[in-house]
Amino acid sequence: MTDAVLVFNPGSSSIKFALFEISPELRRIASGAIEGIGTAPHFLARDSTKAVVAEQRWPDGTHEDFLATLLHWAEDQLGGHRLVAAGHRIVHGGAQFIQPVRLDEAAIDALEKLSPLAPLHQPHNISVIRAVAKLRPDLAQIGCFDTAFHATMSATTRRFALPRAFEEEGVRRYGFHGLSYEYIAGRLREVAPREAGGRIIAAHLGNGASLCALQNGRSVDTTMGFTALDGLMMGTRCGALDPGVPLYLMRRHGMDAAALEDLFYNRSGLLGVSGVSADMRALSASAEPRAREAIDLFVFRIAREIGALAASLGGLDGLVFTAGIGENSPEIRRLVCARTAWLGLTLDETANRSAEGRISTADSRVAAWVIPTDEEIIIARRTIAVTA
Ligand code: ADP
Repeated sequence: MTDAVLVFNPGSSSIKFALFEISPELRRIASGAIEGIGTAPHFLARDSTKAVVAEQRWPDGTHEDFLATLLHWAEDQLGGHRLVAAGHRIVHGGAQFIQPVRLDEAAIDALEKLSPLAPLHQPHNISVIRAVAKLRPDLAQIGCFDTAFHATMSATTRRFALPRAFEEEGVRRYGFHGLSYEYIAGRLREVAPREAGGRIIAAHLGNGASLCALQNGRSVDTTMGFTALDGLMMGTRCGALDPGVPLYLMRRHGMDAAALEDLFYNRSGLLGVSGVSADMRALSASAEPRAREAIDLFVFRIAREIGALAASLGGLDGLVFTAGIGENSPEIRRLVCARTAWLGLTLDETANRSAEGRISTADSRVAAWVIPTDEEIIIARRTIAVTA
Protein backbone atom coordinates (compact mmCIF):
# COMPACT_ATOMS: atom_id res chain seq x y z
CA MET A 1 0.00 0.00 0.00
CA THR A 2 1.31 3.46 -0.90
CA ASP A 3 1.22 5.96 1.95
CA ALA A 4 0.85 9.69 1.50
CA VAL A 5 1.54 12.90 3.39
CA LEU A 6 -0.32 16.18 3.21
CA VAL A 7 1.78 19.31 3.59
CA PHE A 8 0.38 22.62 4.86
CA ASN A 9 2.06 25.92 4.11
CA PRO A 10 -0.17 28.65 5.53
CA GLY A 11 0.21 32.30 4.53
CA SER A 12 -1.52 35.14 6.35
CA SER A 13 -4.88 34.63 4.60
CA SER A 14 -4.29 31.39 2.72
CA ILE A 15 -3.47 27.74 3.28
CA LYS A 16 -1.29 26.33 0.51
CA PHE A 17 -1.12 22.55 0.49
CA ALA A 18 0.56 19.72 -1.38
CA LEU A 19 -0.18 16.01 -1.38
CA PHE A 20 2.76 13.62 -1.73
CA GLU A 21 2.81 9.91 -2.36
CA ILE A 22 5.63 8.39 -0.31
CA SER A 23 6.69 5.21 -2.05
CA PRO A 24 8.71 4.24 -3.86
CA GLU A 25 9.90 7.87 -3.93
CA LEU A 26 8.34 11.13 -2.86
CA ARG A 27 6.04 12.25 -5.64
CA ARG A 28 3.75 15.29 -5.63
CA ILE A 29 0.29 14.09 -6.65
CA ALA A 30 -1.50 17.41 -6.33
CA SER A 31 -1.23 20.84 -4.81
CA GLY A 32 -3.30 23.96 -4.36
CA ALA A 33 -4.57 26.49 -1.88
CA ILE A 34 -7.48 27.71 0.13
CA GLU A 35 -7.30 31.46 -0.43
CA GLY A 36 -9.35 34.45 0.66
CA ILE A 37 -9.82 33.24 4.25
CA GLY A 38 -11.72 36.00 6.03
CA THR A 39 -13.03 37.49 2.75
CA ALA A 40 -14.13 35.07 0.00
CA PRO A 41 -12.82 31.57 0.78
CA HIS A 42 -11.90 29.61 -2.32
CA PHE A 43 -10.42 26.09 -2.59
CA LEU A 44 -8.52 25.11 -5.73
CA ALA A 45 -6.47 21.97 -6.35
CA ARG A 46 -4.36 21.02 -9.37
CA ASP A 47 -2.77 17.72 -10.35
CA SER A 48 0.86 17.28 -11.39
CA THR A 49 0.07 18.54 -14.92
CA LYS A 50 -1.37 21.75 -13.37
CA ALA A 51 -4.90 20.82 -14.49
CA VAL A 52 -7.60 21.95 -12.05
CA VAL A 53 -8.99 18.85 -10.32
CA ALA A 54 -11.14 20.41 -7.61
CA GLU A 55 -12.65 23.78 -6.81
CA GLN A 56 -15.07 25.08 -4.20
CA ARG A 57 -16.17 28.48 -2.90
CA TRP A 58 -17.76 29.33 0.42
CA PRO A 59 -19.60 32.52 1.47
CA ASP A 60 -17.65 32.30 4.76
CA GLY A 61 -16.64 29.59 7.25
CA THR A 62 -14.09 28.35 9.76
CA HIS A 63 -10.73 26.62 9.38
CA GLU A 64 -12.49 23.42 10.33
CA ASP A 65 -14.98 23.74 7.45
CA PHE A 66 -12.24 24.35 4.90
CA LEU A 67 -9.96 21.62 6.21
CA ALA A 68 -12.78 19.09 6.32
CA THR A 69 -13.24 19.65 2.57
CA LEU A 70 -9.49 19.49 1.95
CA LEU A 71 -8.96 16.28 3.96
CA HIS A 72 -11.93 14.65 2.32
CA TRP A 73 -10.67 15.62 -1.12
CA ALA A 74 -7.11 14.43 -0.30
CA GLU A 75 -8.33 11.00 0.76
CA ASP A 76 -10.44 10.72 -2.39
CA GLN A 77 -7.31 11.32 -4.46
CA LEU A 78 -5.51 8.45 -2.75
CA GLY A 79 -7.87 5.80 -4.06
CA GLY A 80 -7.66 3.65 -0.95
CA HIS A 81 -4.07 4.53 -0.10
CA ARG A 82 -3.38 5.79 3.38
CA LEU A 83 -2.82 9.39 4.47
CA VAL A 84 -0.29 8.81 7.26
CA ALA A 85 0.80 12.28 8.30
CA ALA A 86 0.31 16.00 7.96
CA GLY A 87 3.41 18.20 7.83
CA HIS A 88 3.16 21.89 8.68
CA ARG A 89 5.34 24.85 7.89
CA ILE A 90 5.51 26.80 11.14
CA VAL A 91 6.91 30.28 11.05
CA HIS A 92 8.34 30.63 14.55
CA GLY A 93 9.98 27.86 16.54
CA GLY A 94 11.68 30.20 19.01
CA ALA A 95 14.80 28.89 20.76
CA GLN A 96 13.14 25.57 21.61
CA PHE A 97 12.23 24.08 18.24
CA ILE A 98 15.32 23.61 16.09
CA GLN A 99 14.25 20.23 14.66
CA PRO A 100 10.93 19.02 13.21
CA VAL A 101 8.66 17.73 15.98
CA ARG A 102 5.46 15.81 16.50
CA LEU A 103 2.74 18.34 17.31
CA ASP A 104 1.25 17.04 20.53
CA GLU A 105 -0.72 19.22 22.93
CA ALA A 106 2.44 20.37 24.79
CA ALA A 107 4.16 21.40 21.55
CA ILE A 108 1.06 23.29 20.36
CA ASP A 109 0.87 25.14 23.70
CA ALA A 110 4.55 26.09 23.43
CA LEU A 111 3.98 27.35 19.87
CA GLU A 112 1.00 29.40 21.00
CA LYS A 113 3.32 31.30 23.37
CA LEU A 114 5.39 32.36 20.36
CA SER A 115 2.39 33.96 18.59
CA PRO A 116 3.33 37.54 19.55
CA LEU A 117 6.60 37.02 17.63
CA ALA A 118 4.76 36.19 14.40
CA PRO A 119 1.30 37.71 14.83
CA LEU A 120 0.27 37.39 11.17
CA HIS A 121 1.24 33.77 10.75
CA GLN A 122 1.54 31.80 13.98
CA PRO A 123 -2.12 31.95 15.15
CA HIS A 124 -3.21 30.92 11.66
CA ASN A 125 -0.68 28.00 11.71
CA ILE A 126 -2.06 26.86 15.04
CA SER A 127 -5.69 27.06 13.86
CA VAL A 128 -4.82 24.70 11.00
CA ILE A 129 -3.09 22.22 13.35
CA ARG A 130 -5.97 22.28 15.83
CA ALA A 131 -8.61 21.85 13.12
CA VAL A 132 -6.76 18.85 11.63
CA ALA A 133 -6.33 17.33 15.13
CA LYS A 134 -10.08 17.62 15.68
CA LEU A 135 -11.03 16.22 12.28
CA ARG A 136 -8.42 13.45 12.18
CA PRO A 137 -7.15 12.75 15.72
CA ASP A 138 -5.37 9.62 14.47
CA LEU A 139 -3.23 11.51 11.94
CA ALA A 140 0.40 12.21 12.95
CA GLN A 141 1.08 15.95 12.71
CA ILE A 142 4.63 17.20 12.35
CA GLY A 143 5.83 20.81 12.62
CA CYS A 144 8.76 22.08 10.53
CA PHE A 145 10.12 25.47 11.50
CA ASP A 146 11.18 28.42 9.38
CA THR A 147 13.55 29.52 12.13
CA ALA A 148 15.32 26.16 12.64
CA PHE A 149 17.74 26.38 9.70
CA HIS A 150 19.35 29.45 11.27
CA ALA A 151 20.22 27.66 14.54
CA THR A 152 23.78 27.45 13.11
CA MET A 153 24.25 31.25 13.39
CA SER A 154 26.90 32.26 15.94
CA ALA A 155 26.01 33.79 19.30
CA THR A 156 27.39 37.14 18.12
CA THR A 157 25.21 37.09 14.99
CA ARG A 158 22.13 36.24 17.04
CA ARG A 159 22.64 38.92 19.66
CA PHE A 160 21.01 42.35 19.91
CA ALA A 161 22.92 45.09 21.71
CA LEU A 162 20.39 45.12 24.56
CA PRO A 163 20.89 44.29 28.23
CA ARG A 164 21.49 40.54 28.67
CA ALA A 165 18.26 39.91 30.59
CA PHE A 166 16.29 40.43 27.35
CA GLU A 167 18.41 37.92 25.45
CA GLU A 168 17.88 35.42 28.24
CA GLU A 169 14.11 35.69 27.78
CA GLY A 170 14.48 35.09 24.04
CA VAL A 171 14.84 38.56 22.55
CA ARG A 172 17.43 37.71 19.89
CA ARG A 173 17.67 37.17 16.15
CA TYR A 174 16.15 33.92 14.84
CA GLY A 175 15.81 34.36 11.07
CA PHE A 176 13.03 32.97 8.83
CA HIS A 177 12.42 31.35 5.40
CA GLY A 178 14.60 28.49 6.69
CA LEU A 179 12.70 25.75 4.83
CA SER A 180 13.26 27.60 1.58
CA TYR A 181 16.97 28.08 2.34
CA GLU A 182 17.34 24.44 3.29
CA TYR A 183 15.92 23.49 -0.11
CA ILE A 184 18.15 25.99 -1.94
CA ALA A 185 21.30 24.79 -0.12
CA GLY A 186 20.49 21.18 -1.09
CA ARG A 187 19.61 22.03 -4.68
CA LEU A 188 22.76 24.12 -5.11
CA ARG A 189 24.85 21.08 -4.13
CA GLU A 190 23.29 19.32 -7.15
CA VAL A 191 23.39 22.28 -9.57
CA ALA A 192 26.83 23.67 -8.66
CA PRO A 193 28.62 21.36 -6.22
CA ARG A 194 31.90 23.29 -6.30
CA GLU A 195 30.39 26.69 -5.47
CA ALA A 196 27.90 25.19 -2.97
CA GLY A 197 30.81 24.56 -0.58
CA GLY A 198 31.70 28.26 -0.64
CA ARG A 199 30.20 31.60 0.36
CA ILE A 200 26.68 31.99 -1.03
CA ILE A 201 23.92 34.53 -0.52
CA ALA A 202 20.42 33.21 -1.20
CA ALA A 203 17.76 35.84 -1.89
CA HIS A 204 14.22 34.69 -1.11
CA LEU A 205 12.19 37.48 -2.73
CA GLY A 206 8.44 36.88 -2.42
CA ASN A 207 5.75 38.81 -0.58
CA GLY A 208 7.98 38.21 2.41
CA ALA A 209 11.63 38.76 1.52
CA SER A 210 14.95 37.96 3.14
CA LEU A 211 18.55 37.04 2.38
CA CYS A 212 20.58 34.22 3.90
CA ALA A 213 24.37 33.98 4.02
CA LEU A 214 25.37 30.34 3.53
CA GLN A 215 28.82 29.00 4.28
CA ASN A 216 29.18 25.44 3.01
CA GLY A 217 25.36 25.16 2.96
CA ARG A 218 24.85 26.33 6.55
CA SER A 219 23.27 29.59 7.63
CA VAL A 220 25.78 32.03 9.13
CA ASP A 221 23.66 35.19 8.89
CA THR A 222 20.30 36.36 7.59
CA THR A 223 18.42 39.63 7.25
CA MET A 224 15.31 38.77 9.26
CA GLY A 225 15.67 38.82 13.02
CA PHE A 226 13.47 38.49 16.08
CA THR A 227 10.40 38.70 13.84
CA ALA A 228 9.80 38.47 10.10
CA LEU A 229 9.62 42.29 9.97
CA ASP A 230 13.37 42.88 9.97
CA GLY A 231 15.74 43.26 7.03
CA LEU A 232 14.56 43.86 3.47
CA MET A 233 11.62 45.94 2.33
CA MET A 234 8.73 43.54 1.51
CA GLY A 235 5.29 43.55 -0.09
CA THR A 236 3.58 45.19 2.88
CA ARG A 237 6.29 45.00 5.60
CA CYS A 238 8.74 47.80 6.24
CA GLY A 239 11.92 45.80 6.91
CA ALA A 240 14.70 47.23 9.08
CA LEU A 241 13.78 50.53 10.66
CA ASP A 242 15.50 52.86 13.09
CA PRO A 243 13.99 51.90 16.49
CA GLY A 244 13.52 55.63 17.01
CA VAL A 245 10.71 55.59 14.42
CA PRO A 246 8.20 53.58 16.51
CA LEU A 247 9.11 55.73 19.53
CA TYR A 248 8.31 58.86 17.54
CA LEU A 249 5.05 57.39 16.18
CA MET A 250 3.94 56.46 19.70
CA ARG A 251 4.66 59.92 21.08
CA ARG A 252 3.66 62.07 18.14
CA HIS A 253 0.75 60.04 16.71
CA GLY A 254 -0.38 58.23 19.85
CA MET A 255 0.02 54.85 18.15
CA ASP A 256 -0.14 51.76 20.36
CA ALA A 257 1.29 48.28 19.73
CA ALA A 258 -1.71 47.17 17.62
CA ALA A 259 -1.54 50.29 15.43
CA LEU A 260 2.22 49.91 14.92
CA GLU A 261 1.82 46.22 14.15
CA ASP A 262 -0.77 47.00 11.47
CA LEU A 263 1.40 49.79 10.03
CA PHE A 264 4.63 47.75 9.90
CA TYR A 265 3.14 44.42 8.75
CA ASN A 266 0.25 45.45 6.51
CA ARG A 267 0.61 49.03 5.25
CA SER A 268 4.33 49.54 4.63
CA GLY A 269 6.84 48.09 2.14
CA LEU A 270 6.11 48.22 -1.59
CA LEU A 271 2.47 49.07 -0.86
CA GLY A 272 3.22 51.90 1.54
CA VAL A 273 5.96 53.52 -0.55
CA SER A 274 4.19 53.21 -3.92
CA GLY A 275 0.63 53.82 -2.76
CA VAL A 276 -0.20 51.57 -5.73
CA SER A 277 0.22 47.90 -4.85
CA ALA A 278 2.17 45.32 -2.85
CA ASP A 279 2.47 43.22 -6.00
CA MET A 280 5.70 43.53 -7.96
CA ARG A 281 3.93 42.79 -11.28
CA ALA A 282 1.57 45.72 -10.76
CA LEU A 283 4.46 48.02 -9.81
CA SER A 284 6.55 47.04 -12.84
CA ALA A 285 3.57 47.78 -15.10
CA SER A 286 2.66 51.07 -13.43
CA ALA A 287 3.46 54.51 -14.86
CA GLU A 288 3.11 56.10 -11.40
CA PRO A 289 6.50 57.62 -10.35
CA ARG A 290 6.08 56.32 -6.81
CA ALA A 291 5.81 52.75 -8.12
CA ARG A 292 9.28 53.20 -9.64
CA GLU A 293 10.54 54.75 -6.39
CA ALA A 294 9.25 51.72 -4.47
CA ILE A 295 11.11 49.37 -6.84
CA ASP A 296 14.27 51.48 -6.51
CA LEU A 297 14.09 51.27 -2.72
CA PHE A 298 13.38 47.51 -2.83
CA VAL A 299 16.49 46.96 -4.98
CA PHE A 300 18.66 49.38 -2.98
CA ARG A 301 17.82 47.59 0.28
CA ILE A 302 18.63 44.18 -1.23
CA ALA A 303 21.96 45.43 -2.59
CA ARG A 304 22.89 47.05 0.71
CA GLU A 305 22.11 43.88 2.65
CA ILE A 306 24.07 41.79 0.12
CA GLY A 307 27.04 43.98 1.03
CA ALA A 308 26.43 43.36 4.72
CA LEU A 309 26.10 39.60 4.31
CA ALA A 310 29.18 39.47 2.08
CA ALA A 311 30.99 41.02 5.05
CA SER A 312 29.56 38.30 7.33
CA LEU A 313 30.87 35.68 4.89
CA GLY A 314 34.24 37.39 4.32
CA GLY A 315 33.57 37.55 0.56
CA LEU A 316 31.15 36.11 -1.94
CA ASP A 317 31.22 33.20 -4.42
CA GLY A 318 27.59 33.06 -5.52
CA LEU A 319 24.13 34.62 -5.39
CA VAL A 320 20.88 32.65 -5.73
CA PHE A 321 17.50 34.21 -6.59
CA THR A 322 14.33 32.44 -5.53
CA ALA A 323 10.59 32.85 -4.66
CA GLY A 324 7.92 34.80 -6.59
CA ILE A 325 9.98 37.86 -7.51
CA GLY A 326 13.39 36.16 -7.52
CA GLU A 327 12.19 33.41 -9.87
CA ASN A 328 9.99 35.48 -12.17
CA SER A 329 11.36 38.98 -12.48
CA PRO A 330 14.39 39.34 -14.79
CA GLU A 331 14.08 43.10 -14.22
CA ILE A 332 14.63 42.92 -10.45
CA ARG A 333 17.46 40.41 -10.89
CA ARG A 334 19.14 42.72 -13.42
CA LEU A 335 18.84 45.74 -11.14
CA VAL A 336 20.17 43.83 -8.12
CA CYS A 337 23.08 42.37 -10.12
CA ALA A 338 23.97 45.82 -11.49
CA ARG A 339 24.38 47.05 -7.90
CA THR A 340 26.36 43.93 -7.01
CA ALA A 341 28.86 44.28 -9.89
CA TRP A 342 31.47 45.71 -7.49
CA LEU A 343 31.63 42.29 -5.80
CA GLY A 344 32.64 40.70 -9.13
CA LEU A 345 29.24 39.65 -10.47
CA THR A 346 28.59 39.98 -14.22
CA LEU A 347 25.09 39.14 -15.37
CA ASP A 348 24.50 37.21 -18.60
CA GLU A 349 21.55 39.23 -19.97
CA THR A 350 20.35 36.41 -22.24
CA ALA A 351 20.48 33.75 -19.53
CA ASN A 352 18.71 36.16 -17.17
CA ARG A 353 15.65 36.07 -19.41
CA SER A 354 15.23 32.33 -18.82
CA ALA A 355 13.42 30.97 -15.80
CA GLU A 356 16.04 28.74 -14.23
CA GLY A 357 19.75 28.00 -14.00
CA ARG A 358 22.96 30.01 -14.09
CA ILE A 359 22.48 33.66 -15.07
CA SER A 360 26.04 35.02 -14.64
CA THR A 361 28.60 35.04 -17.46
CA ALA A 362 31.14 32.21 -17.69
CA ASP A 363 33.93 34.56 -16.54
CA SER A 364 31.97 36.21 -13.72
CA ARG A 365 34.00 35.85 -10.51
CA VAL A 366 30.77 35.65 -8.50
CA ALA A 367 28.22 33.22 -9.98
CA ALA A 368 24.45 33.82 -9.94
CA TRP A 369 21.59 31.39 -10.39
CA VAL A 370 17.80 31.27 -10.42
CA ILE A 371 16.65 28.25 -8.41
CA PRO A 372 12.90 27.79 -7.87
CA THR A 373 12.30 27.00 -4.22
CA ASP A 374 10.21 24.11 -2.89
CA GLU A 375 9.42 24.43 0.80
CA GLU A 376 6.75 21.73 0.55
CA ILE A 377 9.12 18.94 -0.43
CA ILE A 378 11.39 19.79 2.50
CA ILE A 379 8.37 19.59 4.84
CA ALA A 380 7.31 16.26 3.28
CA ARG A 381 10.82 14.79 3.70
CA ARG A 382 11.12 15.95 7.30
CA THR A 383 7.61 14.74 8.13
CA ILE A 384 8.38 11.28 6.82
CA ALA A 385 11.69 11.21 8.73
CA VAL A 386 9.91 11.99 12.03
CA THR A 387 7.03 9.55 11.51
CA ALA A 388 9.15 6.68 10.09
P1 ADP B 1 4.66 34.45 -0.84
O1 ADP B 1 5.70 35.10 0.01
O2 ADP B 1 3.26 34.89 -0.54
O3 ADP B 1 4.82 32.93 -1.00
P2 ADP B 1 5.52 34.53 -3.60
O4 ADP B 1 6.84 33.84 -3.41
O5 ADP B 1 4.47 33.83 -4.38
O6 ADP B 1 4.93 35.08 -2.26
O7 ADP B 1 5.84 35.93 -4.32
C1 ADP B 1 4.85 36.88 -4.61
C2 ADP B 1 5.50 38.04 -5.33
O8 ADP B 1 6.06 37.56 -6.56
C3 ADP B 1 4.52 39.14 -5.70
O9 ADP B 1 5.09 40.43 -5.45
C4 ADP B 1 4.36 38.96 -7.20
O10 ADP B 1 4.08 40.17 -7.84
C5 ADP B 1 5.75 38.50 -7.57
N1 ADP B 1 5.75 37.90 -8.91
C6 ADP B 1 5.14 36.76 -9.32
N2 ADP B 1 5.32 36.62 -10.66
C7 ADP B 1 6.02 37.70 -11.08
C8 ADP B 1 6.50 38.16 -12.36
N3 ADP B 1 6.30 37.45 -13.46
N4 ADP B 1 7.18 39.32 -12.38
C9 ADP B 1 7.39 40.04 -11.28
N5 ADP B 1 6.97 39.68 -10.07
C10 ADP B 1 6.29 38.52 -9.97
